[in-house]
Amino acid sequence: MQATLQPLLVDHHVHGVVDRPLDRAAFELLINEGGQPARPGDSHFDSPVGLAILTHCGPLLGLHGERSPEAYLQVRSLLGAETVNRRLIHAAGCAALLVDTGHRGSEVVGPTRMAALAGVPALTVSRIERVAEEAAAHAPGPQEWLDGLGRALADAAATSVGFKTIVAYRHGFDLDADVPGRDEVQQAAAGWFDGGPDRLDSPVLLRHVLHTALDAAAERRIPVQVHAGFGDTDLTLHRADPSVFTPWVREFGRRGVDLVFLHCYPYHRQAAYLATVFPHVFFDVGCMFHYTGASAGTVLAEAMELAPWTKLLYSSDAFGLAEFVYLGAALFRRALDRVLGGWVDAGDCPADTAADIHAAVCSRNARRLYRLDLDPTQHEENV
Ligand SMILES: [Zn+2]
Repeated sequence: MQATLQPLLVDHHVHGVVDRPLDRAAFELLINEGGQPARPGDSHFDSPVGLAILTHCGPLLGLHGERSPEAYLQVRSLLGAETVNRRLIHAAGCAALLVDTGHRGSEVVGPTRMAALAGVPALTVSRIERVAEEAAAHAPGPQEWLDGLGRALADAAATSVGFKTIVAYRHGFDLDADVPGRDEVQQAAAGWFDGGPDRLDSPVLLRHVLHTALDAAAERRIPVQVHAGFGDTDLTLHRADPSVFTPWVREFGRRGVDLVFLHCYPYHRQAAYLATVFPHVFFDVGCMFHYTGASAGTVLAEAMELAPWTKLLYSSDAFGLAEFVYLGAALFRRALDRVLGGWVDAGDCPADTAADIHAAVCSRNARRLYRLDLDPTQHEENV
Protein backbone atom coordinates (compact mmCIF):
# COMPACT_ATOMS: atom_id res chain seq x y z
CA MET A 1 0.00 0.00 0.00
CA GLN A 2 1.29 3.44 -0.87
CA ALA A 3 2.17 5.54 2.17
CA THR A 4 0.18 8.75 2.48
CA LEU A 5 0.74 11.72 4.75
CA GLN A 6 -2.06 11.87 7.32
CA PRO A 7 -2.47 14.51 10.03
CA LEU A 8 -2.60 13.13 13.54
CA LEU A 9 -5.97 13.71 15.17
CA VAL A 10 -6.78 15.35 18.46
CA ASP A 11 -9.52 13.14 19.90
CA HIS A 12 -11.07 15.79 22.14
CA HIS A 13 -13.64 13.55 23.82
CA VAL A 14 -12.91 9.92 24.61
CA HIS A 15 -13.33 7.58 27.59
CA GLY A 16 -11.09 4.81 28.91
CA VAL A 17 -11.11 1.28 27.51
CA VAL A 18 -11.76 -2.00 29.33
CA ASP A 19 -8.48 -3.85 30.03
CA ARG A 20 -9.90 -7.29 30.85
CA PRO A 21 -11.12 -10.15 28.62
CA LEU A 22 -14.66 -9.71 27.28
CA ASP A 23 -16.99 -12.59 26.48
CA ARG A 24 -19.61 -12.21 23.76
CA ALA A 25 -22.34 -10.96 26.12
CA ALA A 26 -20.06 -8.31 27.65
CA PHE A 27 -18.75 -7.23 24.23
CA GLU A 28 -22.27 -6.93 22.81
CA LEU A 29 -23.32 -4.74 25.74
CA LEU A 30 -20.53 -2.32 24.81
CA ILE A 31 -21.50 -2.01 21.13
CA ASN A 32 -25.01 -0.73 21.77
CA GLU A 33 -25.53 2.59 23.54
CA GLY A 34 -28.70 1.29 25.20
CA GLY A 35 -26.74 -0.89 27.62
CA GLN A 36 -29.14 -3.81 27.30
CA PRO A 37 -28.76 -7.16 25.52
CA ALA A 38 -30.40 -7.61 22.12
CA ARG A 39 -33.75 -9.43 22.04
CA PRO A 40 -33.39 -13.23 22.39
CA GLY A 41 -32.24 -14.62 19.04
CA ASP A 42 -30.95 -11.21 17.88
CA SER A 43 -27.44 -9.73 18.10
CA HIS A 44 -26.10 -6.19 18.40
CA PHE A 45 -23.60 -7.21 15.70
CA ASP A 46 -26.52 -6.97 13.22
CA SER A 47 -26.20 -3.18 13.01
CA PRO A 48 -24.02 -0.57 11.26
CA VAL A 49 -21.61 -0.52 14.23
CA GLY A 50 -21.33 -4.34 14.32
CA LEU A 51 -20.69 -4.40 10.59
CA ALA A 52 -18.03 -1.68 10.93
CA ILE A 53 -16.20 -3.65 13.65
CA LEU A 54 -16.11 -6.87 11.63
CA THR A 55 -15.21 -5.09 8.38
CA HIS A 56 -12.58 -2.61 9.56
CA CYS A 57 -11.18 -3.96 12.85
CA GLY A 58 -11.00 -7.64 11.89
CA PRO A 59 -8.09 -7.16 9.44
CA LEU A 60 -6.15 -5.15 12.04
CA LEU A 61 -6.34 -8.13 14.37
CA GLY A 62 -5.08 -10.40 11.58
CA LEU A 63 -8.49 -11.74 10.58
CA HIS A 64 -8.84 -11.92 6.82
CA GLY A 65 -11.81 -13.38 4.97
CA GLU A 66 -13.80 -14.64 7.95
CA ARG A 67 -16.27 -11.95 9.08
CA SER A 68 -18.33 -13.62 11.82
CA PRO A 69 -18.68 -12.29 15.39
CA GLU A 70 -17.50 -15.69 16.67
CA ALA A 71 -14.24 -15.54 14.67
CA TYR A 72 -13.68 -11.89 15.62
CA LEU A 73 -14.15 -12.49 19.34
CA GLN A 74 -12.01 -15.62 19.21
CA VAL A 75 -9.04 -13.80 17.67
CA ARG A 76 -9.62 -10.90 20.08
CA SER A 77 -9.43 -13.25 23.03
CA LEU A 78 -6.35 -15.09 21.68
CA LEU A 79 -4.46 -11.81 21.28
CA GLY A 80 -5.50 -10.57 24.75
CA ALA A 81 -6.90 -7.22 25.87
CA GLU A 82 -3.50 -5.51 26.15
CA THR A 83 -2.42 -6.29 22.57
CA VAL A 84 -5.84 -5.50 21.11
CA ASN A 85 -6.07 -2.17 22.95
CA ARG A 86 -2.55 -1.14 22.01
CA ARG A 87 -2.88 -2.12 18.35
CA LEU A 88 -6.26 -0.48 17.74
CA ILE A 89 -5.59 2.71 19.70
CA HIS A 90 -2.22 3.13 18.03
CA ALA A 91 -3.77 2.62 14.60
CA ALA A 92 -6.14 5.54 15.28
CA GLY A 93 -3.20 7.93 14.76
CA CYS A 94 -3.94 10.47 17.48
CA ALA A 95 -1.68 13.29 18.67
CA ALA A 96 -3.55 13.58 21.98
CA LEU A 97 -6.56 12.16 23.82
CA LEU A 98 -8.83 14.27 26.03
CA VAL A 99 -10.33 11.73 28.43
CA ASP A 100 -13.69 12.16 30.18
CA THR A 101 -13.09 10.43 33.52
CA GLY A 102 -16.62 10.73 34.91
CA HIS A 103 -18.53 7.82 33.33
CA ARG A 104 -18.34 4.32 34.91
CA GLY A 105 -14.79 5.09 35.95
CA SER A 106 -14.26 1.79 37.81
CA GLU A 107 -14.88 -0.23 34.62
CA VAL A 108 -12.33 1.44 32.35
CA VAL A 109 -8.72 2.63 32.53
CA GLY A 110 -7.87 6.25 33.35
CA PRO A 111 -5.88 8.88 31.42
CA THR A 112 -2.46 7.60 32.53
CA ARG A 113 -3.12 4.14 31.14
CA MET A 114 -4.72 5.57 27.98
CA ALA A 115 -1.58 7.63 27.42
CA ALA A 116 0.57 4.51 27.78
CA LEU A 117 -1.62 2.55 25.34
CA ALA A 118 -1.66 5.35 22.77
CA GLY A 119 1.92 6.55 23.23
CA VAL A 120 0.69 10.16 23.25
CA PRO A 121 -0.52 12.61 25.95
CA ALA A 122 -3.92 11.86 27.52
CA LEU A 123 -5.41 14.84 29.34
CA THR A 124 -8.33 14.99 31.75
CA VAL A 125 -11.81 16.36 31.15
CA SER A 126 -13.75 16.53 34.45
CA ARG A 127 -17.46 15.92 34.62
CA ILE A 128 -19.12 18.75 36.53
CA GLU A 129 -21.94 16.73 38.10
CA ARG A 130 -19.48 14.00 39.17
CA VAL A 131 -17.22 16.55 40.90
CA ALA A 132 -20.29 17.87 42.76
CA GLU A 133 -21.38 14.35 43.75
CA GLU A 134 -17.91 13.40 44.98
CA ALA A 135 -17.73 16.59 47.03
CA ALA A 136 -21.14 15.73 48.54
CA ALA A 137 -19.98 12.21 49.40
CA HIS A 138 -17.16 13.71 51.48
CA ALA A 139 -19.17 16.54 53.07
CA PRO A 140 -20.63 16.10 56.60
CA GLY A 141 -23.82 17.95 55.60
CA PRO A 142 -25.54 20.12 52.98
CA GLN A 143 -24.14 23.44 54.21
CA GLU A 144 -20.56 22.15 54.20
CA TRP A 145 -21.15 20.84 50.67
CA LEU A 146 -22.46 24.21 49.50
CA ASP A 147 -19.56 26.01 51.20
CA GLY A 148 -16.96 23.73 49.55
CA LEU A 149 -18.50 23.37 46.08
CA GLY A 150 -16.73 26.36 44.52
CA ARG A 151 -13.35 25.14 45.80
CA ALA A 152 -13.99 21.56 44.55
CA LEU A 153 -14.87 22.82 41.05
CA ALA A 154 -11.94 25.26 41.02
CA ASP A 155 -9.56 22.42 41.98
CA ALA A 156 -10.99 20.21 39.22
CA ALA A 157 -10.66 23.03 36.69
CA ALA A 158 -7.02 23.51 37.68
CA THR A 159 -6.14 19.93 36.70
CA SER A 160 -8.39 19.63 33.63
CA VAL A 161 -8.23 20.87 30.05
CA GLY A 162 -12.02 21.11 30.01
CA PHE A 163 -15.24 20.47 31.87
CA LYS A 164 -18.17 18.38 30.74
CA THR A 165 -21.80 18.64 31.77
CA ILE A 166 -24.53 16.01 31.47
CA VAL A 167 -27.52 18.19 32.37
CA ALA A 168 -29.18 16.77 29.24
CA TYR A 169 -29.26 13.41 31.06
CA ARG A 170 -30.03 14.64 34.53
CA HIS A 171 -32.90 16.95 33.57
CA GLY A 172 -32.92 18.02 29.91
CA PHE A 173 -31.92 21.25 28.22
CA ASP A 174 -35.21 22.86 29.30
CA LEU A 175 -33.44 23.88 32.53
CA ASP A 176 -34.06 27.42 33.79
CA ALA A 177 -30.87 29.41 33.11
CA ASP A 178 -31.41 31.95 35.92
CA VAL A 179 -29.17 31.79 38.99
CA PRO A 180 -31.30 30.10 41.69
CA GLY A 181 -31.95 31.99 44.94
CA ARG A 182 -29.93 31.20 48.08
CA ASP A 183 -32.90 29.87 50.09
CA GLU A 184 -34.02 27.76 47.18
CA VAL A 185 -30.54 26.21 46.88
CA GLN A 186 -30.25 25.53 50.63
CA GLN A 187 -33.66 23.88 50.71
CA ALA A 188 -32.82 21.71 47.68
CA ALA A 189 -29.44 20.74 49.17
CA ALA A 190 -31.07 19.73 52.46
CA GLY A 191 -33.58 17.59 50.54
CA TRP A 192 -30.81 15.96 48.50
CA PHE A 193 -28.78 15.09 51.62
CA ASP A 194 -31.91 13.61 53.24
CA GLY A 195 -31.92 10.98 50.53
CA GLY A 196 -28.23 10.16 50.38
CA PRO A 197 -26.87 12.27 48.65
CA ASP A 198 -26.55 10.12 45.55
CA ARG A 199 -27.43 11.01 41.96
CA LEU A 200 -27.61 14.76 41.44
CA ASP A 201 -30.82 15.47 39.53
CA SER A 202 -32.55 18.28 41.42
CA PRO A 203 -33.14 21.03 38.80
CA VAL A 204 -32.30 23.74 41.36
CA LEU A 205 -29.01 22.06 42.31
CA LEU A 206 -28.11 21.29 38.69
CA ARG A 207 -28.50 25.01 37.94
CA HIS A 208 -26.49 26.01 40.99
CA VAL A 209 -23.70 23.54 40.22
CA LEU A 210 -23.53 24.57 36.55
CA HIS A 211 -23.41 28.29 37.39
CA THR A 212 -20.66 27.60 39.95
CA ALA A 213 -18.77 25.54 37.36
CA LEU A 214 -19.01 28.41 34.86
CA ASP A 215 -17.16 30.62 37.37
CA ALA A 216 -14.36 28.02 37.63
CA ALA A 217 -14.23 27.52 33.85
CA ALA A 218 -14.08 31.28 33.22
CA GLU A 219 -11.32 31.70 35.80
CA ARG A 220 -9.19 28.95 34.24
CA ARG A 221 -10.25 29.72 30.65
CA ILE A 222 -11.27 26.15 29.94
CA PRO A 223 -14.20 25.20 27.66
CA VAL A 224 -17.23 23.21 28.80
CA GLN A 225 -18.31 20.17 26.80
CA VAL A 226 -22.09 19.69 26.78
CA HIS A 227 -23.64 16.31 26.02
CA ALA A 228 -26.33 16.75 23.35
CA GLY A 229 -28.52 14.36 21.37
CA PHE A 230 -27.70 10.63 21.03
CA GLY A 231 -27.15 8.75 24.27
CA ASP A 232 -28.35 5.82 26.36
CA THR A 233 -31.86 5.10 27.64
CA ASP A 234 -31.37 7.45 30.58
CA LEU A 235 -31.93 10.25 28.06
CA THR A 236 -35.20 11.67 26.74
CA LEU A 237 -33.94 12.53 23.29
CA HIS A 238 -36.05 15.54 22.34
CA ARG A 239 -35.03 17.27 25.59
CA ALA A 240 -31.38 16.98 24.48
CA ASP A 241 -31.83 19.11 21.34
CA PRO A 242 -29.09 21.77 21.62
CA SER A 243 -31.41 24.52 20.38
CA VAL A 244 -33.44 24.03 23.60
CA PHE A 245 -30.27 25.01 25.52
CA THR A 246 -30.15 28.45 23.84
CA PRO A 247 -30.77 30.49 27.05
CA TRP A 248 -27.76 28.74 28.61
CA VAL A 249 -25.75 29.25 25.41
CA ARG A 250 -26.30 32.99 25.88
CA GLU A 251 -25.32 32.69 29.56
CA PHE A 252 -22.05 30.90 28.64
CA GLY A 253 -21.32 33.75 26.23
CA ARG A 254 -22.03 36.42 28.87
CA ARG A 255 -19.63 34.65 31.25
CA GLY A 256 -16.90 34.31 28.59
CA VAL A 257 -16.93 30.48 28.56
CA ASP A 258 -16.59 28.47 25.34
CA LEU A 259 -19.14 25.68 24.89
CA VAL A 260 -18.71 22.49 22.86
CA PHE A 261 -21.80 20.44 22.01
CA LEU A 262 -20.88 16.74 21.84
CA HIS A 263 -22.45 14.02 19.63
CA CYS A 264 -25.57 16.06 18.79
CA TYR A 265 -27.15 13.47 16.45
CA PRO A 266 -29.84 13.72 15.16
CA TYR A 267 -29.67 17.43 16.05
CA HIS A 268 -26.25 18.06 14.50
CA ARG A 269 -27.82 20.62 12.16
CA GLN A 270 -29.17 22.54 15.19
CA ALA A 271 -25.70 22.41 16.78
CA ALA A 272 -24.15 23.58 13.51
CA TYR A 273 -26.58 26.50 13.43
CA LEU A 274 -25.67 27.51 17.02
CA ALA A 275 -21.95 27.22 16.19
CA THR A 276 -22.56 29.47 13.19
CA VAL A 277 -24.31 32.30 15.02
CA PHE A 278 -22.58 32.24 18.43
CA PRO A 279 -18.81 32.92 18.40
CA HIS A 280 -18.24 30.86 21.57
CA VAL A 281 -20.05 27.68 20.39
CA PHE A 282 -18.26 24.63 18.94
CA PHE A 283 -19.55 21.12 18.18
CA ASP A 284 -18.71 17.60 17.05
CA VAL A 285 -20.55 14.52 15.83
CA GLY A 286 -18.41 12.19 17.95
CA CYS A 287 -19.53 8.58 18.40
CA MET A 288 -21.64 8.85 15.24
CA PHE A 289 -18.72 7.71 13.07
CA HIS A 290 -18.67 4.23 14.58
CA TYR A 291 -22.41 4.05 15.30
CA THR A 292 -23.44 5.00 11.76
CA GLY A 293 -20.51 3.15 10.13
CA ALA A 294 -21.22 3.03 6.40
CA SER A 295 -23.33 6.24 6.64
CA ALA A 296 -20.76 8.29 8.59
CA GLY A 297 -20.07 10.39 5.49
CA THR A 298 -23.71 11.52 5.35
CA VAL A 299 -23.69 12.67 8.97
CA LEU A 300 -20.42 14.56 8.56
CA ALA A 301 -21.62 16.16 5.31
CA GLU A 302 -24.73 17.44 7.13
CA ALA A 303 -22.60 18.75 10.01
CA MET A 304 -20.49 20.67 7.48
CA GLU A 305 -23.35 22.19 5.48
CA LEU A 306 -23.47 25.49 7.33
CA ALA A 307 -21.00 25.83 10.19
CA PRO A 308 -17.61 27.53 9.89
CA TRP A 309 -14.97 24.79 9.83
CA THR A 310 -13.18 26.56 12.65
CA LYS A 311 -16.06 25.41 14.91
CA LEU A 312 -16.09 21.67 14.16
CA LEU A 313 -13.95 19.29 16.22
CA TYR A 314 -13.10 15.60 15.98
CA SER A 315 -13.87 13.09 18.72
CA SER A 316 -14.36 9.33 18.83
CA ASP A 317 -16.38 9.34 22.09
CA ALA A 318 -15.14 5.77 22.43
CA PHE A 319 -16.19 4.11 25.67
CA GLY A 320 -14.87 0.72 26.78
CA LEU A 321 -13.68 -0.61 23.42
CA ALA A 322 -10.44 0.25 21.62
CA GLU A 323 -12.38 -0.66 18.46
CA PHE A 324 -14.24 2.63 18.80
CA VAL A 325 -11.07 4.69 19.23
CA TYR A 326 -9.86 3.22 15.94
CA LEU A 327 -13.18 3.23 14.08
CA GLY A 328 -13.92 6.82 15.07
CA ALA A 329 -10.61 7.95 13.59
CA ALA A 330 -10.69 5.76 10.47
CA LEU A 331 -14.31 6.46 9.55
CA PHE A 332 -13.95 10.17 10.32
CA ARG A 333 -10.89 10.45 8.07
CA ARG A 334 -12.68 8.66 5.26
CA ALA A 335 -15.83 10.77 5.68
CA LEU A 336 -13.84 14.01 5.72
CA ASP A 337 -11.94 13.01 2.57
CA ARG A 338 -15.23 12.21 0.85
CA VAL A 339 -16.95 15.45 1.86
CA LEU A 340 -14.00 17.68 0.95
CA GLY A 341 -13.20 15.62 -2.15
CA GLY A 342 -16.78 16.19 -3.30
CA TRP A 343 -16.45 19.96 -2.77
CA VAL A 344 -13.20 20.03 -4.76
CA ASP A 345 -14.50 17.81 -7.60
CA ALA A 346 -17.62 19.97 -7.96
CA GLY A 347 -15.48 23.07 -8.34
CA ASP A 348 -16.80 24.54 -5.08
CA CYS A 349 -13.52 24.53 -3.14
CA PRO A 350 -9.87 24.96 -4.16
CA ALA A 351 -7.67 22.00 -3.21
CA ASP A 352 -5.43 24.09 -0.94
CA THR A 353 -8.48 25.41 0.96
CA ALA A 354 -9.71 21.82 1.36
CA ALA A 355 -6.32 20.87 2.80
CA ASP A 356 -6.54 23.74 5.27
CA ILE A 357 -10.10 22.75 6.34
CA HIS A 358 -8.83 19.19 6.81
CA ALA A 359 -6.03 20.34 9.11
CA ALA A 360 -8.38 22.59 11.08
CA VAL A 361 -11.01 19.94 11.80
CA CYS A 362 -8.55 17.12 12.48
CA SER A 363 -6.43 18.97 14.97
CA ARG A 364 -5.93 22.74 14.80
CA ASN A 365 -9.36 23.73 16.16
CA ALA A 366 -8.94 21.51 19.24
CA ARG A 367 -5.38 22.69 19.85
CA ARG A 368 -6.58 26.29 19.89
CA LEU A 369 -9.76 25.74 21.90
CA TYR A 370 -8.09 23.69 24.64
CA ARG A 371 -4.79 25.62 24.36
CA LEU A 372 -2.91 22.34 23.95
CA ASP A 373 0.84 22.54 23.99
CA LEU A 374 1.74 19.48 21.92
CA ASP A 375 4.99 18.43 20.32
CA PRO A 376 4.98 20.25 16.94
CA THR A 377 6.89 17.40 15.28
CA GLN A 378 3.92 15.12 15.97
CA HIS A 379 1.63 16.88 13.50
CA GLU A 380 1.99 14.32 10.78
CA GLU A 381 3.08 10.77 10.25
CA ASN A 382 3.22 8.23 7.48
CA VAL A 383 0.52 5.59 7.79
ZN1 LIG B 1 -18.64 10.58 26.06
